[in-house]
Amino acid sequence: MIAGNRAINYLRISVTDRCNFRCKYCVPSSPFKVIEHDKIARYEEILRITRLACDLGITKVRITGGEPFVRKGIFSFLEKLCRIDTLKDVSITTNGALLNRKKIRMLMDMGIRRLNFSLDTLDPSKFARITGRDRFNKVWDAIQTAHTMGISPIKINAVALRGVNDDEIRAIAGLTLKYPFHIRFIEYMPMGDSDVEKQQQILTREIQERITETLGPLEPVKLEKNDGPAKKFKLDGAEGILGFITPVSSHFCSECNRLRLTSRGTIRPCLLKNYETDILTPLRDGADDLALKQIIESALTQKPLFHDLGSRTPKDLPISHMTSIGG
Ligand code: SAM
Ligand code: SF4
Repeated sequence: MIAGNRAINYLRISVTDRCNFRCKYCVPSSPFKVIEHDKIARYEEILRITRLACDLGITKVRITGGEPFVRKGIFSFLEKLCRIDTLKDVSITTNGALLNRKKIRMLMDMGIRRLNFSLDTLDPSKFARITGRDRFNKVWDAIQTAHTMGISPIKINAVALRGVNDDEIRAIAGLTLKYPFHIRFIEYMPMGDSDVEKQQQILTREIQERITETLGPLEPVKLEKNDGPAKKFKLDGAEGILGFITPVSSHFCSECNRLRLTSRGTIRPCLLKNYETDILTPLRDGADDLALKQIIESALTQKPLFHDLGSRTPKDLPISHMTSIGG
């Protein structure tokens, strides 16, 4: 599939909008609506859409959410997903709190070798304040266990926020001196009705300055094909890599190879634009494979060439939470 000169080969699937955490940059502290159970795509429906997307050129899938591991039956779904023979790569983004040695072994036995964890602080009490849950030790244990079991690369996503965890930018970046992890700082994106204020957003340039002031220069690392949007660097003598994901300060739309399937069964060609095409209703109404493929292809024609999240007054901020779209 091609969209404006971009070959689209990467599908991100949100399997649920539910989550066991309440990260302050992701969901609001006030009550919000979750998707009704019968409106969430069932596993067999997700598998059918994925197979069709693979026929159209998708070769990589990332499972996300919400928190993927809160959904019942996730392991047998992942097993079936990994058996799609045209799919070359299956990876997962998780908060890690529900993972342990046995579950990581099950993932490895299916052929999953790449996990992204989210971790915004190394301080257990701050972790509880950011995520609303006192689970730092569980998450850190899961990351260490995955590392010792040979999951590689382990990527850790961190959202730096002024007045929340910006005092730890150095410590988080410094993990790469000790571990072969890829630590990626993601710029906070204003989504839905999150409680985070615009002034708390810290852009990549400032994060990089804070790192270089204390840890020394950042040496650029050559990007490999299919490397994704992170700009990569290494600190002198580091085991791991530092990545910076800059959706706000420098959009990467011209290289974006992604398509999203949301938990409510819509195809979303861009995380940051509100266009979505419902594929679940036609599927449930009996549409054949050809018709469903046409829906995927026509959704792609709406993939924009840029977004304006970095402008002072962005026009159409995403109205959904990241949990329902799948970050
Ligand atoms: N629950 C899983 C997790 O936290 O890794 C997967 C879903 S979560 C929505 C995926 C990623 O989106 C996380 O790394 C999180 O840090 C990021 N994220 C969520 N809200 C964000 C926001 N407003 N701006 C930037 N990144 C955000
Ligand atoms: Fe849940 Fe992930 Fe959002 Fe945190 S970032 S609330 S763990 S979906």
